[in-house]
Amino acid sequence: MSGAHYAAFVELCEKLEKTSGRNQKIQLVASYLRTLSPDEAKIAAYMLVGRATEEKGKTPLNVGWAAVRDVLDAGITRPLVETPLTLAELWSSLKSAAQASGEGSRTRKKAIIEALLSRMSEVERKWFIRMLFGEMRHGVSAGLMLDAIAQLSGLDAERVRRLDMVIGDIGELAKLAVEGRLTTAGMRLFSPVRPMLAEMSETAQDAIREHGGRTAFEPKFDGVRLQIHKQGDVVRLYTRRLSDVTPSLPDVVDVVKKAVKASEAVLDAEVVAIDQAGKALPFQETMRRLGRERDVEEAVNQIPLLLKVFDILYLEGGTVIDKPYMERRRLLESVVEDGSLLAEQLITDSAEEAERFMERVLEQGHEGLIAKDPRSAYTPGRRGGHWLKIKPAERLDVVIIAAEWGHGRRQGWLSNYHLAVLDEETGNFEMVGKTFKGLTDREFEEMTRRLQEIKLADTEWGVVVRPEIVVEVAYNEIQRSPHYRSGYALRFARITRIRDDKPPSEVDTLQRLKLLYEKQFEKKGRLEE
Ligand code: AMP
Repeated sequence: MSGAHYAAFVELCEKLEKTSGRNQKIQLVASYLRTLSPDEAKIAAYMLVGRATEEKGKTPLNVGWAAVRDVLDAGITRPLVETPLTLAELWSSLKSAAQASGEGSRTRKKAIIEALLSRMSEVERKWFIRMLFGEMRHGVSAGLMLDAIAQLSGLDAERVRRLDMVIGDIGELAKLAVEGRLTTAGMRLFSPVRPMLAEMSETAQDAIREHGGRTAFEPKFDGVRLQIHKQGDVVRLYTRRLSDVTPSLPDVVDVVKKAVKASEAVLDAEVVAIDQAGKALPFQETMRRLGRERDVEEAVNQIPLLLKVFDILYLEGGTVIDKPYMERRRLLESVVEDGSLLAEQLITDSAEEAERFMERVLEQGHEGLIAKDPRSAYTPGRRGGHWLKIKPAERLDVVIIAAEWGHGRRQGWLSNYHLAVLDEETGNFEMVGKTFKGLTDREFEEMTRRLQEIKLADTEWGVVVRPEIVVEVAYNEIQRSPHYRSGYALRFARITRIRDDKPPSEVDTLQRLKLLYEKQFEKKGRLEE
């Protein structure tokens, strides 16, 4: 058999081990891959990052250290006629070993490993064994491999990282690079890509601003993300972690077959368990439904699912992820005719309108809103500002215990307020955050004056005051905090009202804060995160 020899691969590994510079390593790997055929480059890329089988293959090698040691201990006889081992031979032997199953498979696997080892020198064995156990220790991480592929293909590293998110298979990337096809590579059907993710935003107003004055709001469904791949009558469904959950969702498959008017499409969606009245059920119910592998029919009847499709990534032979969101949405609408399957959408420049939309959405049992920049491309695997999630603000009454002098425009004002809740057990006020948001200029002025009246001490940064002024704050999340003695901090706190009607003794308590923290934690304990 002709082809690239395993010995050359080993030579490269030895060099890599002795080289410390990252750039030199990248060079070495790229020049080596350049000498290979596309299929060999694929094999070499896997092996270099310590993989003995194909990334997406469903059959792991399953050869334990004990088996290898048995082979080595028994002593290996070298074959009479030595032909150099090629990468292709080595790989196909490993594939047969991985595929061996059932009775006698252990013996068969061992025999294959023995046959391979028998054709290797001492140093070749060393690298083979390191690869079998996924520990190359020559400093070629997946990231470095991607950089080498970038170098090889002449694309910038960022672009290759993006392609990795789409293709999700380092061997395949190396192969495409050697073929010179990486530039045109994109998505393929039944090969799921990592979904685009959202960042947190405080308010609808902020989202509108961030998206250039106008944005597309959609309900944020509290279910499970589904990537739908359809080709003709074949439909497969993948989760956010790219596992195939088609068998547990025959009802979703049926809906997709009926409703999606395209012979080839990849759609992005969320699926939510609902009650008889159509109201969204807690997230756990959706998870339970997806986890069902047996008695699926029964589950289908017991827990109906609501499918909401919100994006399209691929249509009739080509990817559409680079098109702006509004254009993708139009394509989506042309493909999914049943409007009830589409995520509702409100495109607006008005925060008030968005707030009203949010109220309706919450009524239906959903979690909040997602704002999507109408101009943005679909960026697989990315958490960026193009998608912003907005959850309804929670509110707490807290007391101001200190304030910091402002800078810049807020010079001369006490404008950053230290907020505290009441610890019922000790009777002390405990700090849970700071905010400089929510007041108008006039209110800042007035607050500065009032705080100075109740000042207990001056500090380098401002004043400590008698806990007297109560304010209502909105916040998006309660977090654990090592900074405050209370142990908790309010994320994105902002003043929504000055509560002169309330005495400090009636502010919210640390005990309540703890309960609220636990409550949100229950919800966040998602299996899919
Ligand atoms: P999070 O899981 O809190 O980071 O929020 C992002 C997730 O919200 C996504 O991964 C989706 O599973 C989910 N989601 C719910 N509704 C939508 C929607 N309309 N558009 C995009 N993602 C959504």
